[in-house]
Amino acid sequence: MTIGVLGGGQLGRMLGLAGLPLGFSFVFLDPAEDAPAAIAGEVIRAPWDDAEALATLAAKCDVITWEFENVPEAAARRLAEARPVFPPPESLAVSQDRLLEKQHFARLGIPTPPFAAVATEAEVQAALGTIGLPALLKTRRMGYDGRGQRVLRDAADAGPAVAALGGVPLLLERFVPFERELSVVAARGRDGETAAWPVIENHHGGGILRLSLAPAPRLAEERRTRAEGWARMLLESFGYVGVLALELFETAEGLLANEMAPRVHNSGHWTIEGARTSQFENHVRAVAGLPLGDTAPCGVSAMVNLIGTLPPAGALQGVPGLHLHVYGKSPRPGRKLGHATLCAGSLAEILRLLDRLPPIAGLPHPAHG
Ligand code: AMP
Repeated sequence: MTIGVLGGGQLGRMLGLAGLPLGFSFVFLDPAEDAPAAIAGEVIRAPWDDAEALATLAAKCDVITWEFENVPEAAARRLAEARPVFPPPESLAVSQDRLLEKQHFARLGIPTPPFAAVATEAEVQAALGTIGLPALLKTRRMGYDGRGQRVLRDAADAGPAVAALGGVPLLLERFVPFERELSVVAARGRDGETAAWPVIENHHGGGILRLSLAPAPRLAEERRTRAEGWARMLLESFGYVGVLALELFETAEGLLANEMAPRVHNSGHWTIEGARTSQFENHVRAVAGLPLGDTAPCGVSAMVNLIGTLPPAGALQGVPGLHLHVYGKSPRPGRKLGHATLCAGSLAEILRLLDRLPPIAGLPHPAHG
């Protein structure tokens, strides 16, 4: 079976690396030069809306998926006329618009920070009355890794923030003083079976994920069950097939949903070595119509993103239990170039191993001593 993938970045590369041993072949479509996924299959280099390239992809593949959430929904729908496309394109449309996404959460009864759709400074001023300060103003579309958002500490910040985000539909959200960020990564098979990996604790810097710990330390059982339940509700709501991630804030009062990603997720990279079945293998299994594999963790894992520059060759491999993944991308500030996963028997051991890492740009020190 040949699996077509919209997007040929590192997520495509890791999907391919998980699917090749299972006997699958891959064809990727990506507009970029030097797609990291090229080591795992053929790459069709073309823009997302290139009808001929989409037709070629459909002709070469039995089933199609994506690894990049800003793929135009129209491209996924066009492919769906020719071949089965998983996950359902509707999940792409919802996740690409922060308003539709929050409304979808609200319909399912999944709590979020209070939000309001706005476009002009006057609308922001009016909405601040119910949302309160501080608040975050975000573009509804094309925002990720903290891009396309401004903090409003004062009503006077509204004008400059609207001007900076530039004439596009916006979402105003209450700024949540969260204790930590969490995510749940879960999968649903074609037969409706679902599975979730343990809830993950995430540390960001400059709007980019830097470190994930799994299972999330000291998470109350009731919150863990709730987070997993929300991920399953989302999967069911779309009749989803494949892997999905839900990002959460943990506050003193409980959990709030921030956003979802209808794809394999950076906070789930630790599952390659740290779980019985990785998110990449289960995504491949799901779209291919195979039973899902066991998502149980093998001990405790930490995943460290390597951003902007890579440590010198060999600098990381001296740390016991470390697995290095390099994506084959040229260095650039803020670019995800690779990741390292540490696996151990306990959180204490993971924290000791993290202390043994050479200096890694932007790596926070998790306060779990
Ligand atoms: P997003 O692009 O919506 O995932 O936001 C990027 C990051 O901004 C999140 O990972 C949080 O660290 C922060 N953030 C987003 N929304 C809020 C909020 N309502 N309150 C506080 N921080 C937020």
